[in-house]
Amino acid sequence: MAQRIIIAEDEAIIRRDLKEMLIAEGYDVVADLGRGDEALEAVRTMRPAAAVLDVKMPGMDGLSVAEAINAEQLCAVIILTAFSQRSLVEQAREAGVMAYLVKPFQAGDLVPAIELALARFDEKMLVEGELERIHDEHRKLEEKLETRVILDRAKARLMDEYQLSESDAFRFLQKTAMDTRGKVKDVAERVIDGNLKPGRS
Ligand SMILES: [Mg+2]
Repeated sequence: MAQRIIIAEDEAIIRRDLKEMLIAEGYDVVADLGRGDEALEAVRTMRPAAAVLDVKMPGMDGLSVAEAINAEQLCAVIILTAFSQRSLVEQAREAGVMAYLVKPFQAGDLVPAIELALARFDEKMLVEGELERIHDEHRKLEEKLETRVILDRAKARLMDEYQLSESDAFRFLQKTAMDTRGKVKDVAERVIDGNLKPGRS
């Protein structure tokens, strides 16, 4: 299936050429716009695979659009630029731009730039997904550990103050949780706070 692409370039002739070249290369140009703000809106609603953005455009400049797209992780971004200034390159990298096209570009420059940007975006999404999964796992482990510490403290109190055996202390916590349809951890916290004693409830 053809990759869906949005282009934003305020010079109509360049925009038309770019669109024709992309179509000839087999891409699906779902929108071509002359304003940055409209390009951002189109990316948000149409969710293309990539956006090719001019730098200087009315409404919103291409780097600001790139920054917003990057912050919302919407799609790959290729910047169209007439200059190759170092400051712009750095700004673009910070805005999450994944490839450049320097004007005047040729049809042969397009595919490598777009494919590079698409590959980098996919890789970034994979890494973000993996990081999210690791954070989730870490959170769950921390929760388990915290519950374990609280259960141990509650058991210790039940054993010290009420002379329950360890297994009876645990059974008391478990049964109270079941009877009250609560969590064992919450029951344990009540025991630690002195708000729950065996023999009463
Ligand atoms: Mg322009």
